[in-house]
Parts: sequence; C-alpha cells; structure tokens
Amino acid sequence: MIINNVVTTGPPLSVPSHLSFAQYAIDKLKENSENGDAVAVINGDTNQQITFKQILQETVNVATGLARLGVKRGDVVALCSENRDEFMPTALAVVCCGATITTYNLLYTKDEMTHVLNISRPKLLFASELALQRHLATFKSQSSIEKIIQLNGKAAASGILEYKSVGVPTNPNEYEPVEVEGWKDIAYILYSSGTTGLPKGVMLSHLNVLYSAASFEIENPLENVVLLTIVPWYHAYGLMSTINYILIKRKLVYLNGFNPVKYLTSIQEYKVTNLAAVPPIVVFLAKAPIVEKFDLSSINTIWCGAAPLSAETIAGALKRMKNCKGIFQAYGMTETSLTATKDIDDDKTIRKPGSAGYPLNGVKAKVVDIDTRKRLGPNENGEICLKGPLIMKGYYGNAEATRDVFDEEGYLKTGDVGYYDKDGCFFIVDRLKELIKYKGHQVAPAAVESVVLEHPGVAECGVVGAPDEAVGELATAFVVKKPGATVTEKELLEFTTSRLSSVSRLHGGIIFIEEIPKNPSGKILRRALKQKLLDRQKSK
Ligand code: AMP
Repeated sequence: MIINNVVTTGPPLSVPSHLSFAQYAIDKLKENSENGDAVAVINGDTNQQITFKQILQETVNVATGLARLGVKRGDVVALCSENRDEFMPTALAVVCCGATITTYNLLYTKDEMTHVLNISRPKLLFASELALQRHLATFKSQSSIEKIIQLNGKAAASGILEYKSVGVPTNPNEYEPVEVEGWKDIAYILYSSGTTGLPKGVMLSHLNVLYSAASFEIENPLENVVLLTIVPWYHAYGLMSTINYILIKRKLVYLNGFNPVKYLTSIQEYKVTNLAAVPPIVVFLAKAPIVEKFDLSSINTIWCGAAPLSAETIAGALKRMKNCKGIFQAYGMTETSLTATKDIDDDKTIRKPGSAGYPLNGVKAKVVDIDTRKRLGPNENGEICLKGPLIMKGYYGNAEATRDVFDEEGYLKTGDVGYYDKDGCFFIVDRLKELIKYKGHQVAPAAVESVVLEHPGVAECGVVGAPDEAVGELATAFVVKKPGATVTEKELLEFTTSRLSSVSRLHGGIIFIEEIPKNPSGKILRRALKQKLLDRQKSK
C-alpha cells in the first residue's frame, strides 16, 4: 500500500504482551521439545546433532550459572567465537538473565577488538579456544571484564572458567527469565559503521528482536525443511536468522565458514531444502564448475541478503537447480534487526527478481530526495528511510550518532539509495554511505584509512569499494605520498595486511594520486573517488 508516499505491507504483527524475547524463546523451545527429541541443529563439520530439548536445557543451565556468577539485568556480556554448538545457548542464556549479549568477530585485529570492547565494556566474556588464541592479551587488558569463560578446550590461562563448569542443573519447567521492559531493555549490541565513521554499537531492544522473530513466524509453516547456513553468527544476519529459525522449529545444518566441497557435500548428504546465503554464494552456485558434480535436487528455496544480487545471477543459479522454486531476496541492516524488506513467498504477490522486495508487515518505508528530504513517489531514486518496531533504539553510548541517523519524522536514514515501484516493491541501486561490503561483511573505510595513514610515507588516504561480482566490493585505497616518500604499492600492502582483518584488507589494491578530492571543510569526497575508480575500470 502506498499512502502519502509511504509504503507499507499488511497489518503490523503481534508479539507476546510480556515483551520479553527471553520468555518468548524459552516458551518456543519448550513447545518445540514437546513431542520427543526433534533435531534442531546439526553441526555439518562434526555431524553432531543437537535437539531442541538440549538447547533448552543448556540455555537454562547456563542462565542459572550466570545469575550465580552475578550477571544481572542491564549488564553487558560479550561472546567471541566462530559458529559452534555452544553459541546459541550462550546468547539466549545471557538474554534470559536480563543482560545484553554483544558479539565480536574473532577475525578482528587487535585494534578492531579494542574498539568494540571500549564501546560495550562487557562485565563477562565468553570466548572460544580459537578466539582466546588470538585475543587473550587484548581481553585481559580490558578493565571491565571480571571473568572469562572458555567455550571449548582446556582453559587457556589460570583464572579462566570452563564453559562446562558454569551451567547449573535447572528444571526448564521451573525456570523463568528475568523480567524486562521490552521497549527499553537491550537484548543485543551488534556492530555497524552506520552511515559514516568507525563501527558503532547497535542497540536492539527485546521488542526489536521479538518483532524480528514474529516476522519469521508468519512464514509458511513448512514440513521437512532442512536449512543450511554458513553466515557468521556474530553478525545480525547469522545471529537473528539462526535463532529465529530454531524458534520456529526448522532443522538447521550449520558450517563454520565457506568451503566449496564441504558446502556442496552438506547439501547432498543432508538433503538440504533451504539455503540462507549471501550473494557470493549465489554467484558460486551460478558459475563454479564444481557445482555440476553434486546433486542439488533437494534445494527448494534460497534466501539471500546482505548485499545486492542481480537478476542475471539469480537466473544463472536457478538454471542449475531444477527443483528450486526461487531465490528470494531480503534487504536490511543491523540497525533494522536484520530484514526490513523482502520478497514475499506466496501466490498472490508479484515477485520481481533482483528487487529487495516489499516492506515487512509493520515497517513504514519512504524514499526521500537527498537534498530537499521531501518524500518521493514511485520510480524516483532517493534515500530509503525506515520506521517501525524493527528499528534499533540507537547507538550504544553515542547520542550524537543516534541523533544523526534519524530524520525529523523519526525514520532511520539507511544511507542506501533506491526506489519503489507502483506496487511498493523496493529496488536498491546505490549506497550514499561510506560502507563497503566484502562477501556480505562490513568494511568501514574510516578504519582502513587510519591504518594506511599509520605508514610514515603516507600523507593522505581515501578508501572506497571497487565493484566485484564475486565478492561484492573490494576495498581500494587512494593514497597521496608525503613529499619525497618512496613507498610502493607492494610495501604498503604488506604494511596494511598485517594490521587489518582478512575482511578489511585492501583487496582492490592501492592507487597513488596527487590529491584526495575534499569538500571545503576537508571531508573526503568519496563519490568523486568512487567515480575515479569506475572510470579506471571502464578504461581497462
Ligand atoms: P549490515 O548492517 O552489515 O547488514 O549492512 C547493511 C547494508 O548492507 C545495507 O545498508 C545495504 O547497504 C547492504 N544490503 C543489505 N541487504 C541488501 C540487499 N538485499 N541489496 C542491496 N544491499 C543490501
């Protein structure tokens, strides 16, 4: 429906009146455990199967254990781990204590980790063996952390608690999560650079997360779904979709990262019906010769989000998966608790491959002129702005950034450029904000620039993304050398590679120029740099 140039779809969804995501999760896990030992999650790397009952039991045990360790409503608890079995019970247990869970990417460099630690200042930290191998010293130097709990393996140092010793046997039927005020209490703090600058802590309330879960509940109740996911769980996409799928009783196979053979073998072996994907995976399915060697006939539906996906790639992948009824796209941001618009999988709705679909029920979406901020009508490009129960509370401890990201009507300014058509279907065409997306991961140009600028031979630097079909965008640095400096591309790449996480590296290379285009107040004109990059690509 389009009224006054605001697009909505269907009536708002209802959520339980207690407004506690923790209470909802416990109730759902109990419901899912009722009839025997249904399998919830399969670890595709180890073939370990975990039932809904086990997730419920582990969640309440850890929640009781955390309460005994002094975790209470309003505390922040961090989790830094690859995708692993203990991840979801830990996240749920923290929320059950009325505390906030914040998730860190274990691939962060020391500086990136220090940055997110300083934002969230957790009281307690859960970390996998791998995370501690990389970051123990950084965690130890964070004064807010009172205790570290190691998820797996032998304790990496004295004083670290082992996960197994934390849980306290608890009867799920006698357990009640700590009460919260769902519109105020923060369930998750996740990280996003927003429209500008360094990553910020996105505060998602219980209500935000509950509403996101409700949007999964209205999906067609499907029998015999086996969903394969490889998206990292520290990110909104992985965290929210995985928890929500578990709560609506889908069987889920997960892998920790993408390995082509493992991925295809898992589809074949587990007769996977649904994929939760990002565009590079769909490109792989459409193009990689190895795909032909596997039986993918079980695949029925693919969901894809996090970055743009073209209609051609969709068509290419579908050609190779004869029983796949469609590749459905979703668009959203960490700031919108995952999905804000998506394809609708029903017989009545006109699907438009390559689009971002329709606003979720309860989401108001408008497109405004970038200069005048006036609402625009169908088929006019402008900034997409969103309002509704999925939109974050704001950035943790950053009132200024929070103020800047909402407009005078209370809509979140997404920083994405797009339009809607006469049916209210959205299309994303460009990005106003600085953000670069590499394989669906966020790369904040400001963070990369600060590393490049640490080199003694660099005077100025501006980082932008070069479009790349396989991975999305490649961070590329324009660099002005200091007078007399002789630094080469190779030298600077070596210098930055060791200081940047694998996601944030300068995969697009370095281009030396005489001057970085800037506005009168000294702000880098990224669009001018991006244009330079596109012109170079064209002339090649
Ligand atoms: P994140 O907060 O990491 O999920 O990143 C959010 C950003 O990813 C959005 O603001 C968009 O720029 C981009 N994005 C997410 N989904 C899509 C999509 N379906 N099509 C195009 N861009 C997308």
